[in-house]
Amino acid sequence: MNVHDSERLSGLLEDAGYVQAADGELADVLVFNTCAVRENADNKLYGNLGQLYERKLENPDFQIAVGGCLAQKDKEVIVKKAPWVDVVFGTHNIGSLPALLDRARHNEEAQVEILDALETFPSDLPTKRDSTYAAWVSISVGCNNTCTFCIVPALRGKEKDRRPGEILAEIKALVAEGVIEITLLGQNVNTYGVEFGDKGAFAKLLRACGEIEGLERVRFTSPHPAAFTEDVIVAMAETHNVMPQLHMPLQSGSDRILKDMKRSYRSSKYLGIIEKVRELIPDAAISTDIIVGFPSETEEDFQETLRVVKESRFAVTYTFQYSKRPGTPAAELPGQISKEVVQERYERLLEVVNDLAWQENKLQIGKRVEVLIGNNEGRKDDRTHRLTGRARDSRLVHIDWPEGLEEPRPGDLVWATVLDAKPYFLIADTGAKPEVRRTIAGDAYDRAQAESCGVPTAAVTPKKGTIGLSVDVKVNQ
Ligand code: SF4
Repeated sequence: MNVHDSERLSGLLEDAGYVQAADGELADVLVFNTCAVRENADNKLYGNLGQLYERKLENPDFQIAVGGCLAQKDKEVIVKKAPWVDVVFGTHNIGSLPALLDRARHNEEAQVEILDALETFPSDLPTKRDSTYAAWVSISVGCNNTCTFCIVPALRGKEKDRRPGEILAEIKALVAEGVIEITLLGQNVNTYGVEFGDKGAFAKLLRACGEIEGLERVRFTSPHPAAFTEDVIVAMAETHNVMPQLHMPLQSGSDRILKDMKRSYRSSKYLGIIEKVRELIPDAAISTDIIVGFPSETEEDFQETLRVVKESRFAVTYTFQYSKRPGTPAAELPGQISKEVVQERYERLLEVVNDLAWQENKLQIGKRVEVLIGNNEGRKDDRTHRLTGRARDSRLVHIDWPEGLEEPRPGDLVWATVLDAKPYFLIADTGAKPEVRRTIAGDAYDRAQAESCGVPTAAVTPKKGTIGLSVDVKVNQ
């Protein structure tokens, strides 16, 4: 969610006449988009703000803005602790940022504006995307659940759904710009439609995405197991461009802990969903999030998590050590687990999930996979003469590229055969005559390259100031 908000913030500021600071250039405006879900988020923020104090003294025109979940939570506390901050804005009014920066500059005093309810749906605001081929599209914001470890409901409010027509119009506009992969985004996509009274709305939305010409890949994050219904699995299986991939947070395999977490499903329901997904989409890669060391978790509870993990055969598991988040009900629960015990369980879990991921990846050896070439996904590509992208099931694939042959562009699609597997990536080969499909996303990449070389393709807004954006990202479910 924060990545998406950051793209909106960049787009908004560029729309207001700001331009991105070049590498190494000191920005005139620095925006922190914070996330309260992360451990130590506040220490990190106040540490960063402290480091900027000198710069503010040297240049009073330099502006600092703080937004996101932590701003929504701390409100005026931020300007009390760091009075050199110019603007504090919340998660419901990111659209106000340019006006707040102007007002702070004009009035020469800090502006704090936090709204309790959403003013404008984030996707109605201008966006600056970092990728030419992939984009996030918000379908809902907020969450009606009350998971006891999570700060999101307190900070982002009740679920607010966007109308399907608006979502589809945004996707079509993105495809017209060259985007071929979209990820539908919501804290709980399975309850999409609850606000306008259509329980089947998410499955219908997936099917409607299937009708959009030029849209090659559709993903979504995150579903909630409690609200997951079979019509969604059927829609996934029957819609040609919905990818065989599912990220579904488990959090714990123990029914007792799930109850304490106020996650209203049990392990049998979770495993039942996975079974159905595998029945209808046999090549689906399934990933999850797990929290280790939730208050009062016993060794037996932890063994339950290991059992469900093994039965689920996750392709990827994002593991988290429980830590108290002030403002969440779980922070007040008795039976907080010592750091040593959490660490020890975490390491055991890591060993199991890494091994499972590796076993699952080894099953890919010999298969032909369609890879969407990414933009800088493989950090060692230049050295290893490889290209990197994502398979349809979202696995990371490094492709050995024949020397001397013209390379596909980011956004193009390449077929390759998997030769080897590591726990978190695959190595593949295209053969001497690679099968490449040039896409509208590759064309969009060419256009973006031409623009960055100074070939005029669009009107340029006058420069108002340069911006830097510091992003602290974690999508929690
Ligand atoms: Fe909602 Fe996800 Fe937070 Fe639970 S963890 S309250 S489902 S955002």
